[in-house]
Amino acid sequence: MLVCKFGGSSLADAKQFEKVKDIIRRDPQRRFIVPSAPGKRGPGDEKITDLLYACQSAAAAGRNFKHIFERIAFRYTEIAEELQVDFPQEWLDEVCEQIADGASPMLAASRGEYLSGKLLARYLGITFVDAAEVIRFTRDGHLDEETTNALLSARLMPLERAVVPGFYGADEDGRIITFSRGGSDVSGALVARAVNADVYENWTDVSGFRMADPRIVPDAKHISTLTYRELRELSYMGATVLHEEAVFPVRKAGIPTNIRNTNDPLHPGTMIHDVAERDPNGCVITGIAGHKGFTIISVEKDMMNAELGFGRRVLQAVEEAGVNFEHLPTGIDTMCVVVSEKELSGKRDQVIDRIRELTHPDTISVHEHLALIATVGRGMVHAFGTAARLFTAISTQGVSIRTIDQGSSEISIIVGVDEQDFEKTISAIYDTFVRT
Ligand code: ADP
Ligand code: ASP
Ligand code: MG
Repeated sequence: MLVCKFGGSSLADAKQFEKVKDIIRRDPQRRFIVPSAPGKRGPGDEKITDLLYACQSAAAAGRNFKHIFERIAFRYTEIAEELQVDFPQEWLDEVCEQIADGASPMLAASRGEYLSGKLLARYLGITFVDAAEVIRFTRDGHLDEETTNALLSARLMPLERAVVPGFYGADEDGRIITFSRGGSDVSGALVARAVNADVYENWTDVSGFRMADPRIVPDAKHISTLTYRELRELSYMGATVLHEEAVFPVRKAGIPTNIRNTNDPLHPGTMIHDVAERDPNGCVITGIAGHKGFTIISVEKDMMNAELGFGRRVLQAVEEAGVNFEHLPTGIDTMCVVVSEKELSGKRDQVIDRIRELTHPDTISVHEHLALIATVGRGMVHAFGTAARLFTAISTQGVSIRTIDQGSSEISIIVGVDEQDFEKTISAIYDTFVRT
């Protein structure tokens, strides 16, 4: 049995809905469907979710939002008309009233998936199961995974087929709570776990993962198989085909995820397993990902090593400011903390002063506008000289490496370079490991 999640671009207009229906018809195993809200039909278009957030914030500020809501209503009615599905005006009116009555941003945003699910269920002629009844959050807004699993199983198992809208659920009091953006991927994974699917199919607008972001390496090779650990490393570092949290429920249950392309349904896509053969692409590495916007704080002090609790005190300063750190490359007498610029913004001086106070360092320096790039691959552990090849590839481009973190995972090496060298570095790594 298969669970299929369809992303926003897969449901952007009536043509896309038709493709979805064809995909579901093609295999009777595709029994449980998790839709997103209609996304962009092309560059410059609007996502329903963004429009709903805009309505909510206008309403909250006491401004008129009806002209924005009309754009939402038009999208759904246009799709329904073209598909010749009855889509009652009351469904739209109800959402409009909720927003006018002071709906929370989460409630407002969730209505995109809710309406999309209602429409899709009608179009496919199958049962609609409201996610508010089966995806459970705690009152403080965290997913209650075990209760969700029990509720979903009990509700879905007896059904032949069903549509469960993505992105949201509710707490015990029925208050609607959403995942973070892109969270329909998480809903799909929860459904897949609950019905013990053979495969979690995640349908989107690309035929799976490429070895590097195609905007940087236009001919980057397709990845046929990935492990969940590699996926975690790649998506954490910016290859954001799947929501980060969509990995855990299915991985735990031993269910593979298959990224598929709604616009090219015969392409096998990328299969993500717990274990995979050693180097399916014939390369040592599986993929490269990264992003910009990091700062390194370097703390130096002679004999730091011998000073008990030094590292803890540095991290205490970071923690007190409520800042998460990403990496912690350390040397004998230096310790670096890599944090995202977003996290640090407005708190930089507070953190530096507190580190000074707590550790009395010889020097403390801050290096901004850094990009982190992860080179990931299960084959790297076995290949000799991978790090040397990587550093040579980067330095022959005249790029200085600001920080290196081999990590404890052994399946990735992370380097920090100046933001202006980001694209050049990714291309150089790709050329070295894939083209030669
Ligand atoms: P959906 O709306 O279906 O959930 P997303 O936009 O969330 O789709 O995810 C798909 C997008 O991920 C692709 O359109 C592509 O731009 C982007 N992407 C980022 N990194 C990669 C990569 N390494 N390989 C393939 N696609 C990537
Ligand atoms: N519609 C939501 C968003 O735009 C959730 C999703 O598409 O997965 O973030
Ligand atoms: Mg997505």
